This record gives sequence, C-alpha cells and structure tokens, in this order.
Amino acid sequence: MDLFEYQGKELFARAGIPVPAGRVARTPEEAAAAAAQVVPGAAAVLKAQVATGGRGKAGGVKVVPAGADVAAVAAEILALSIKGEPVGALLVEPAAEIEAEYYAAVTFDRRAGSARFLLSSAGGMEVEEAPEGAMVSVLVDPLLGLAAYQVRDLVFAAGLAPPARKDALVLLPKLYRLFVDADASLVEINPLALTPSGLVALDAKVTVDDSALYRHPDIAAYHGTRRLDPQEERAAAAGLNFVKLDGDVGIIGNGAGLVMSTLDVVSQAGGRPANFLDVGGGAGAEVLASALEVVLAGPVRSVLVNIFGGITRCDRVAGGILEALGRTRVEVPIVVRLEGTNATEGRAMLAAAHHPSVRTADGMMEAARMAAEVR
Ligand code: GDP
Ligand code: MN
Repeated sequence: MDLFEYQGKELFARAGIPVPAGRVARTPEEAAAAAAQVVPGAAAVLKAQVATGGRGKAGGVKVVPAGADVAAVAAEILALSIKGEPVGALLVEPAAEIEAEYYAAVTFDRRAGSARFLLSSAGGMEVEEAPEGAMVSVLVDPLLGLAAYQVRDLVFAAGLAPPARKDALVLLPKLYRLFVDADASLVEINPLALTPSGLVALDAKVTVDDSALYRHPDIAAYHGTRRLDPQEERAAAAGLNFVKLDGDVGIIGNGAGLVMSTLDVVSQAGGRPANFLDVGGGAGAEVLASALEVVLAGPVRSVLVNIFGGITRCDRVAGGILEALGRTRVEVPIVVRLEGTNATEGRAMLAAAHHPSVRTADGMMEAARMAAEVR
C-alpha cells in the first residue's frame, strides 16, 4: 500500500522525524483557510496529494508568496490530473527555506536479502540525474539493526554539509526504526532539506507491506482515504488475487504458479498480459464469473482462462464462464483451456453453448497462441 505524502508525514512525525506543520485541504476555500492558519502572513507551499512521484515536475507543487491568492493556486492544482490520477486533496504547509536538498531512503535489497539504507547529498527533483557515486548506501543486518558507525559512515561518505551532520545522525536511525516498525518496503525522503532550523523531511514516500496491514490498523485505516483503481477495487471486493499489468491479454487461472506460467507462455507467444488473476483452489462458478467481469472491465483484446482442475472442477468453471457471458456483454474472444477434473464435461458444456466469443484450446501453448494472436 502506497501512502499519500501527508499520511507518510504523519508517520514521520510520530517517529520523531521533523516535518513542516501542514494541513490537508480538499477545496480552494479550505486551502485558503488552512494557509491562514498554518502560515499567517508568510509564504505557503501547496502540494498535490497523489500516490505517485514527480509531482513537482507536473506542476503539482507550488510555492505561494505571502499575500498572493492561495485559493486561485489551489484551484489550479486541484484541476490537475497527475500521471492519470486526479488531484483530490492538497497539503498546505509553510514554505521552507531550502539551503540544500538531500535524499534518504530505506528499502529492500532483494539480492542481498536485507534492507539497504541509501543517502545522497544530491537530492531533489533531479535525483535520478545525479552523477554516479552521488548515492551512498549500506546493507543493514536485520538482527543487528542500523549501527551507529554505519550512520556516521553514510553521513560522511554522502558529503552532507557540516550543519546537517548532527541532525542526520539523529534522524537517519529514526527512519530505519520506522521502516521496521511499520513493516514498510520503502520509506523515502526526497528532499530531506537543510533549512535554517535544521533538517526537515519535505516529502514522504512510504510503502507498507499489504500482508502486514493486519497488525497496523492505524495504517490500514488510510485505505478509505485513497482512490483505488476501479478495476482493482472491484477485484478486492470480490476477494480475488488480482494484479494489474500493462498489456492487453487478460489472464485468469487457478493457482499462483499456473497463472505465472501462463503469463510467461503468453509473453512467449508474443502477447502482453493485462493482469495476473488467480481464482485460487476450488473456485466455483460464482468466482469464475466475477473474475471474468473484473478482467473484462479493463482494456483487453482477448482473455485466456487457463484452468487445471484438481479440487477445482472444470464443469463448474465452464458454468461460471457461461454465467458471466450471460450477465455481461462480451466483445472480445475468450480462449479457454480446461484440463484435469471433469475437463471433458466442462468442454462439452462450452461446446454446447455455441457462444460466439468462446474458443476452446488444447494445451497451454496453443491457448496462449490463440489469445496472443487476436488482432
Ligand atoms: P515530488 O516532485 O512529487 O517528489 O514532490 P516534492 O514534495 O519532493 O516537491 C518537489 C520539489 O518542490 C522539491 O524538490 C522542492 O524543491 C520543492 N519544494 C517542496 N516543498 C517546498 C518548500 O516548502 N519550499 C520550497 N521553496 N520548495 C519546496
Ligand atoms: Mn519528492
């Protein structure tokens, strides 16, 4: 789960990491009132709350000088759509006086099998363009935690300005602590700004492991405040294990392993999977029908249903497909491969229905080719 900046900053504040005193606003009027309260008579910064980076470059972060029309600038930002995500809220903060912009983050290094702490003195919006070597990092032993000597190493190797060092020695361990305590897979501060009053986290990017949300009810409660993708929302409501991808061949299968192989085989056949959807073991007609509806709600040119019947019975799967076809209008071909328990019965049901969209396939490779070849 990706948190909004203001939510990440709430976690930062609780972890003792300095953040500006901000308020969330959803209308231009609320923004003007918030500015009057948090920065009376001084410059404010208005920041679009969307769960994606690059807001600065997209015009989603604006400094409003003292006396200027906060509501007008707020209206401009609220009208934006950043990387396809409409701006629903703004964070209104006192504008910071930035002397230097640093970058600090903790994430997983999957190859090393442990957390990695990253620090750079070349932070800000151009962090990706920073010269090679500007980013320094250390692996953190999960049992020993971030050692004091590692923090000192990082701070000196990154070349933070002398006035920032003392603050960094205090702040960076808190960031690591938060990463662990929140079960995060990413905590990122960019920019970590050096201001006349010391280091301040001007941005917050926090990703929390969905599987750990059950032990963080406070973070899980943030779910309701953000707009999910409508297709993902539908899948979640139906209890389906769904991941959106960027291709256009819809994929439905039973069992994570089978679905992953199906993605591979479709790619091998020259197609690009639109999603991962695992209906799980023992799925009946109802689950199949909602899976098909979820996948058809996205931009797909074909759907591949790949079922290996064990506990799952292929006749029930066939029933689910036919039920979904009766409920929703289907304009794209649906390639079905049924194998295993009651596959013969399932195939016979599909054949008897003579639905113009349904095509049955023998074997996984043929199914993938048929789904990939549809133009
Ligand atoms: P991002 O582009 O989505 O990462 O959004 P950020 O929150 O990082 O803001 C983008 C840029 O806006 C930062 O790199 C800063 O240069 C600038 N910025 C953000 N907050 C302030 C502020 O309080 N004062 C000033 N002067 N600039 C700010
Ligand atoms: Mn940023």
